[in-house]
Amino acid sequence: MLRTVIVGAGGVGNVVAHKCAQDAETFGEIWLVSRTLGKCEAIAKDIEASTGVKIKTAVIDADNVAETAAFLKEIQPKVLLNIALPYQDLTLMDACLEAGVHYLDTANYEPLDDPHFEYRWQWEYQDRFEKAGLTALLGSGFDPGVTNVFCAYALKHIFSEVETVDIIDANAGDHGLPFATNFNPEINIREITANGRYWEKGEWKEVPALSVKQEFDFQHPDVGTRSIYLLYHEELESLAKNLPGLQRIRFWMTFSENYINHLRVLENIGMTSVEPIHYEGQEIVPLQFLKAVLPDPASLGPLTKGKTFIGCLITGTLKESGEKATRFIYNLCDHEECYAEVKSQAISYTAGVPAMIGARQLMSGAWLRPGVWNLEQLDPDSFMDDLNAWGLPWHVREANQSLEL
Ligand code: NDP
Repeated sequence: MLRTVIVGAGGVGNVVAHKCAQDAETFGEIWLVSRTLGKCEAIAKDIEASTGVKIKTAVIDADNVAETAAFLKEIQPKVLLNIALPYQDLTLMDACLEAGVHYLDTANYEPLDDPHFEYRWQWEYQDRFEKAGLTALLGSGFDPGVTNVFCAYALKHIFSEVETVDIIDANAGDHGLPFATNFNPEINIREITANGRYWEKGEWKEVPALSVKQEFDFQHPDVGTRSIYLLYHEELESLAKNLPGLQRIRFWMTFSENYINHLRVLENIGMTSVEPIHYEGQEIVPLQFLKAVLPDPASLGPLTKGKTFIGCLITGTLKESGEKATRFIYNLCDHEECYAEVKSQAISYTAGVPAMIGARQLMSGAWLRPGVWNLEQLDPDSFMDDLNAWGLPWHVREANQSLEL
């Protein structure tokens, strides 16, 4: 019997479980497993109400390889979708190897006590997955994920050579709260407070966190002109390595002045630190405490209005004319429409739908290729078709914009 296991029942796990249930023919029996059973059961109830599909639930500790592998051996799914946290990537890859299950995640591994991420740890699994005849897809969310596929599509269909890529991620939505993060606060704040970094002509260049900013006109009435900040983002590492001829790649994200002010205060008073402190006889990590007092991203769904706009601004040599040109490949997603469909805002939706679509490529066999892969290494066409079919339609437009530092 065909089975699929989804690990993690947070904001993104909720979307993934809904979307897999919408395509139960492909995914077979769906298991949503996580640390807290109540969250899995609540999602299962919503899914049954909206799709009529009954999914199964269970508790697992994904940090425990033996326990997870034993569970997988019993269930025997074809694919495991890791929608827990980046801290679980390696243990879940180990469990998949032990149980003979294909693997997919949406964020690269990060050690819990060291706020930095890189692909090295997961790329080191290449031989083991290849020898086991298993496929591991790394970073099948929106960014990383769809952004990587947009680049592969541009290189396959639009440009003979890609010179520069600027990935631009805008949340033009508003939840009306003074301060909240759109996905797991701990992961989100670790990412934003790290130094910015981009790649140019074979070298990494570093700038202080949130120090490079510019105004960008999205040329869309629902988004307008917004401040975008240069950040380091994990797909830069794999795209710099895998896009032939690339000269420069950078990542930008929009933040409001209000968001930046809150973040600066939290940082200045030590609340974003991952160094444990002693407080009334126990050890606490300030950032983890902060996560506990901030709004749960899953609770933002009914509050958020507006759109997200995420895309790749790519300059290169056009296949057809041989001329240098810029194209913007992007998706626009509406928070309220997402909530109406799967009870989630667009940030979790844009991350969760591509995880389901990546898994579809494994279930269909289109992307079954033993080894460990970033998404730009695989043929983009069926994934791009699925984006249109499963809720994240994309557009390509001529662009006359370039971004200078
Ligand atoms: P949440 O914190 O909302 O959910 C994480 C879930 O994982 C929770 O249900 C949590 O359980 C569960 N979990 C944590 N540790 C374990 C464990 N040891 N064993 C079993 N389950 C565990 O996070 P999000 O849903 O916001 O994010 C999920 C992932 O998606 C993250 O890795 C994030 O980085 C990634 N992401 C990727 C994006 C992209 O575009 N590529 C964009 C946004 C997010 P419990 O409920 O008990 O805490």
